Amino acid sequence: MKKMDEIYLASSNKNKVREINEILENIEINGSINLKYIFDEIEVGDFDVDECGETFVENSIIKALAYGKLINKPVISDDSGLSIVALDGFPGINSARFMKGESYTKKMESILSLLKNKEDRSAFFACAATYYDPEKNILLSCQAEVYGKIAYEVRGNNGFGYDPFFIPSGYNKTFGELPKESKNLISHRAKAIKKLLILLKSAKIL
Ligand code: IMP
Repeated sequence: MKKMDEIYLASSNKNKVREINEILENIEINGSINLKYIFDEIEVGDFDVDECGETFVENSIIKALAYGKLINKPVISDDSGLSIVALDGFPGINSARFMKGESYTKKMESILSLLKNKEDRSAFFACAATYYDPEKNILLSCQAEVYGKIAYEVRGNNGFGYDPFFIPSGYNKTFGELPKESKNLISHRAKAIKKLLILLKSAKIL
């Protein structure tokens, strides 16, 4: 069995490390996994990965390969985003790049104005997760989604990014209003990480 303390998150985003570790705390596996933050271990100047893929899975593979080769240890990457059906999937893989530098409140307000005359408010968050072991040259990927709709206004301060205007199906509160425990039970990220762990177990990596 792989020593669990040797897996790193392929990201420079500390929010993701925290959220994924909270998700992992609630998954039944042999022992526990606590993903490490690469930049606590090594010092590099600006490390920027060009996420030039056309899908979430492609971008999660690009990140896993780049960070795995940087640290030369197994990594798990996450590439995620929000897709709005009435806007043909926008912002999708460009969720982080859309109105870069502006606050998420401004980004969400701008999207709300694009949706003003649209009846269909359905949307989904998607998350692709990839495991990459550079020494053994093992690469495994999967993707999961959480479906819901875009609220008529921005509500709540929990979570991050587009959480305050996304209402998951079966709920009447946004991810910004729901406690993190509820989000972590049903989110795209939680589902993708669970799927990835099942793949890793089937491949006898965990
Ligand atoms: P990535 O770092 O390239 O995967 O960018 C993901 C972007 O999608 C984030 O910066 C957010 O804008 C958005 N996003 C992904 N997952 C979530 C989530 O769970 N809540 C809110 N926004 C999210």
